[in-house]
This record gives sequence, C-alpha cells and structure tokens, in this order.
Amino acid sequence: MSTVLCVLYPDPVTGYPPEYVRDEIPEITVYANGQSAPTPRGPLGFKPGQLVGCVSGELGLRSYLESLGHELIVTSDKDGPDSTFERYLPEAEVVISQPFWPAYLTEERIAGAKKLKLALTAGIGSDHVDLRAAAQAGITVAEVTGSNCVSVAEQVVMLILLLVRNYLPSHTFSEAGGWNIADCVERAYDIEGMRFGAIGAGRIGLAVLQRLKPFGLSLHYTQRHRLAPEIEDDLGLSFHADAESLVRSVDIVNLQLPLYPSTEGFFNDALFAKMKRGAYLINTARGKLVERDAVIRALQSRQIAGYAGDVWFPQPAPLDHPWRTMPFNGMTPHVSGTTLSAQARYAAGTLEILQSYFASAPIREEYLIVDGGNLAGTGSASYQLT
Ligand code: NAD
Repeated sequence: MSTVLCVLYPDPVTGYPPEYVRDEIPEITVYANGQSAPTPRGPLGFKPGQLVGCVSGELGLRSYLESLGHELIVTSDKDGPDSTFERYLPEAEVVISQPFWPAYLTEERIAGAKKLKLALTAGIGSDHVDLRAAAQAGITVAEVTGSNCVSVAEQVVMLILLLVRNYLPSHTFSEAGGWNIADCVERAYDIEGMRFGAIGAGRIGLAVLQRLKPFGLSLHYTQRHRLAPEIEDDLGLSFHADAESLVRSVDIVNLQLPLYPSTEGFFNDALFAKMKRGAYLINTARGKLVERDAVIRALQSRQIAGYAGDVWFPQPAPLDHPWRTMPFNGMTPHVSGTTLSAQARYAAGTLEILQSYFASAPIREEYLIVDGGNLAGTGSASYQLT
C-alpha cells in the first residue's frame, strides 16, 4: 500500500459542490501540436466540468486509488512545520500538487521525504519542486503537459485587451454609478496595429501568437529554439535573438518562460528600462521571473502603462503583497490554468500518470520533467537545473 499525498486549493467559501452554471463542457481530444489529450483507462471518477481542483473535488482520484488499496490524503494545509503536508510527507510515495496552490518541495523537504518516488504536478510548471534535489534523490517529476495551455493563452489575450483598452477602471466607474467617459478613455487604445512580442514561444506562447493574428498586430518572439519556418511564415513572425532586442521593439510583451534558477528575476530594472515608454507586460508564467519591486518602479514612473497576470511569489500571496495594490495592475489569483475546462484535462492526466506509475509502465515522455536522476522529456527541452 502506498500513501498518496495530494495538496489542493481550499473549497469555495460558499460550500461544495458549487451550483454549476453550465451543464457540459466541450470535449478536447487533441491539442494544436498533435499531442493527444489525456487518455486514462477506465472510469474518470468525476464528470468533466465539475470542480475537482479543490480539496473536496480530490481530482476525482479517491475511488481509483482506494480500489488498489492505496491511502489518499488530501489537504490544503501545506505551509509551515506543523502543516498536514509536513506531517504526512515522510510517509508519502507520491505527492500531487498544483501550481495554483503549490506544495513547495524544497531541498530540505525532499531530504525528509524518504519514501517519495513521484512528484506529480496536476497542471503545468514544476518549479515548486527543487528539480536538482529531486533528480539527486531519484524522484520522478511529471506534469500534465499541454493540459491548460489554451486556458492560459485565452487569459493572456483577455489581459492584453483589459489593459490596453483600460477595461477594469471603466467597469469600476459603471459599478459605482458613474458615466465618466473621458476618465475611462484617457488611457484606452485599440491593439490593432500595435507590435506584440512573446518571450518564450512554447506551447502557451505560440498559442497566444496564433490567437492574436486576426487582431492585426505585428507579431514578434524570442526564445532558445527558433520556430519552424512554416510557423514563422504563417504568422508573419519576426524573430529576435534576445529579450532586449524584443522589448525595445514592441508595445505589448508576454513573458511565458519556465522558471528555473537562471530565469529567476529575468525581468529586472535593466530590462524595464529598455521597453518602449508606455508598453504593457503580461506575465502568466511565474511571479519570480519578474523582480517584485522593479515592476512597481516601472509602473510608478510610467515607464510601462500596465502589468497583468496571475502568478505571484509566494502563493498564496500575503495580504500585504505590493502587487495587490500597485497602480495600473490587472492581477488575479493564480486562476488562468484552472478553469473547469482545464481541470477536466489535468485531472484526467493525473489519473493517466498514476495508472502508468502503479502499473510500472512508462509515463508519457512529454509528461516527464525529471526522471532517472536528470531532466527528461519536456524537462530537457524547457528547464535547466541551474
Ligand atoms: P513550454 O515548455 O512549451 O515552453 C517554454 C518555452 O520556453 C520553450 O519553448 C523553451 O525553449 C523556452 N525557454 C526556456 N528557457 C528559456 C530561456 N532562458 N530563454 C528563452 N527561451 C527559453 O511551456 P508552456 O506549456 O508554454 O508553459 C510555459 C510556462 O507557463 C510554464 O513553465 C509555467 O510556468 C507557466 N504556466 C502557467 C500557467 C498558469 O495557470 N498561469 C499554466 C500553465 C503553465
């Protein structure tokens, strides 16, 4: 019998289950790059469209795990030495966690987790695991690659429009009973004709570029690996050798890199200073990619016109985190990758990975981040250990 320790975000304050506003969600079987959506065997343990990312939802895993005789512990109590997570970690063979409410698997915690074999991210982005320590301890790290890329890409497009068109202040005026048209539009522009740049054009970054094409922007990108010429031609992409060149040229930037030690603080005062005055930055990748106070300085000095995203450090963000109240921000809690649509895919993918693991069968290559003591699969293409 194995202990599976699963950390999920708390239930809705109004109770569980919620009253669903829709009866069904579209079924997505294949992603844009040809990868098939998760294909677990047998019953799912939930109905797609249900809220399964919170504690009572349990990712729909209980019946599957208990039918094999395993113990499932689900908690949202994840931080501090007296947390439920710390209490059960020494017993856990599998830890499941989500980026939205991450159970940080630090080097110290990994050292104490003597039975841990699989750290599974129900979603995308495994930076809450110390990948180097996991590799050294022989722990496999896997995530549900592809599961919420479109969910995030849609959010990026929305955030661009929210910021550039000054939507949020206009909504606040209307809710407050106002009709302040001049106040609403004094910072409002169309995105048509603007220049947009992606830093990182992987699965999400590319999906954003594809969705922006019909808006009539000029599209730019930079990343480690150049995209195929057919993709560049189809989207009319301009490639930049580095982020500095890109930010000097564009009006709107989307940061969509993975977080690892050498991308920490990637966006700093020096890079903000190279942006066009009045540019916008959207970051739905990870909070630590941007230096916390540099973005505040850039907004206060009007070097940039707005910053939006859903990623912070730490998570949950403390009440006094300055990004909650900085000017011209379009921040939300970490939600873009956990729509009910996304949950259906990442919960099914979590089940698929567990089925492979408990059958001692290979986990899909694209789901692997660390395996056999080193980066593997998607991990080799997207992460570095330093
Ligand atoms: P991906 O692996 O498909 O793409 C990442 C790209 O970044 C790769 O093409 C890689 O070559 C490139 N890259 C890596 N390091 C680089 C560097 N130093 N310089 C330039 N390019 C570099 O990943 P993805 O699915 O597009 O996701 C990207 C990130 O988005 C994830 O790592 C995660 O942190 C974040 N994410 C956030 C949410 C959310 O809910 N907000 C959901 C999913 C993913």
